[in-house]
Amino acid sequence: MIITHIATEVAKLAKVGGLADVLYGLSKELIKQKENLLIILPFYDSLNSDLLIFGKKETKTHETLGLLEYQQAYLEDIPLILIKEHHQKKFFRRESVYGELDDIQRFLFFNMAAFEYLKELKSDLVVHAHDWPATLSLALLKEFPPQNFKSCGMLTIHNMKHQGRCSKKHLEPFLNSPLSSEFFEKAQDPNNPSLLNLLKLGIEYADHITTVSPTYSKEIQTEEFGYNLDKLLVSKKDKLSGILNGIDFNYWDPKSDPHIFSNFKENPINQALEAKKDNKEKLFSLLNLKKSDAPLYACITRLDPQKAPHLIAEGIKHVLGKGGYFFLQGTPSSLEVKKLFNDLQLEYKENLNFYFYEHFDEKFAHKIYAASDFIFIPSLFEPCGLTQMIAMRYGSIPLTRKTGGLADTVFDFEDPKVEDIKKTGLNFIKPEKTAVQSLIDRSFDLYYNPIKKDTVVQNCLLQDNSWQESAQKYKVLYKLIISKA
Ligand code: ADP
Repeated sequence: MIITHIATEVAKLAKVGGLADVLYGLSKELIKQKENLLIILPFYDSLNSDLLIFGKKETKTHETLGLLEYQQAYLEDIPLILIKEHHQKKFFRRESVYGELDDIQRFLFFNMAAFEYLKELKSDLVVHAHDWPATLSLALLKEFPPQNFKSCGMLTIHNMKHQGRCSKKHLEPFLNSPLSSEFFEKAQDPNNPSLLNLLKLGIEYADHITTVSPTYSKEIQTEEFGYNLDKLLVSKKDKLSGILNGIDFNYWDPKSDPHIFSNFKENPINQALEAKKDNKEKLFSLLNLKKSDAPLYACITRLDPQKAPHLIAEGIKHVLGKGGYFFLQGTPSSLEVKKLFNDLQLEYKENLNFYFYEHFDEKFAHKIYAASDFIFIPSLFEPCGLTQMIAMRYGSIPLTRKTGGLADTVFDFEDPKVEDIKKTGLNFIKPEKTAVQSLIDRSFDLYYNPIKKDTVVQNCLLQDNSWQESAQKYKVLYKLIISKA
């Protein structure tokens, strides 16, 4: 049996957000657990090829897709098939992974090309598709099932909001055999019947659907979080489950991380705290800031509406008002959001405690995780969230809104119902300014109570959010669905 991920991101090669970390971390763990696995990814021009060891290349000329190249490669021990196209539209030869006007066509093309490869694999096949850009492959698997081998499909929904709506005419140029009328019924958008909805297509065709945390798997069955597909998901609830993402514990390891100033030693806690202090001092000195004992808050995020930029801004103001530091490393998703934080920069230009770094910079993110005292994550919704898990690994206390995966991984240190060892952070519920302010107030109190604070930091350091357990849960599902195929 081969588990074949169809994905548009893989950490270290092409990363926009957490999806990339999931593909890398889950694959590494499944390989460690002796599974036979492959990731199929577009061969983007921007891919960091230095990290790859290349193998064989196969070519195929397809009636509608043109010349396709399937390049075998290894990222460390992860086997990949990178699809290179020679299409006149240069679908993968762009500057960024997403954000192009023809993203839909680019990824429909990718699925068609991936399926051409899948159908030649001489093995039982679990096709694991990630989000709307990979769902067409699940439908093709059922429309044109490979002969002589068993096949089944799993869909993981990393974010319900993005559904990939398009029209029939986007798909038609790539087809060389007609699709069934059932296909078009399954793809039909519930709100606008003239459109296809690719996420819905995947939900309809998958043998099992997962989301990236148990809480989110329940939330998406409600009107508030289901983005019009909630009723469909309720009807599929017997084959829908939530498996918490993990983080790669080798990559995110403060004991060996080459990107931080001072590596944490083995336990005990005092040594980790000393290393954190050193990381903070060195980061301050890198940024020409005076050494300070005031708390350092951070946010490392896409600045997308999901991440509640307006609440991040409230948090910044309140932290600065109380004499703390706030480092925001965020990539704005719109000019409006960029302006919000550029205006804050102007407002606080005399106040060096606010640092806004508008770039995606993985290495610098490591330094912030290691140096910060708190990571602020006020998301309006959060399918799983990785930043809180990374933060805990680096002894930075997460301040989170109680939603999705945040609610499954961060438990308030003042909640009497929570087991002591699980008290790893501070939660708030209402996405409102006053709730953010009182959250920050509580975190300042915690910071200035070192005994309590060090206990929470220690709990953070002891959490095991590695992939081990979650990968086992995926394995159980893969085996279940292939046994029914
Ligand atoms: P999402 O997938 O919604 O973006 P997650 O919390 O699941 O959010 O994952 C975010 C990942 O992307 C984490 O690894 C985080 O460190 C990284 N990240 C987000 N923004 C930046 C940035 N500006 N620079 C570096 N890394 C970032």
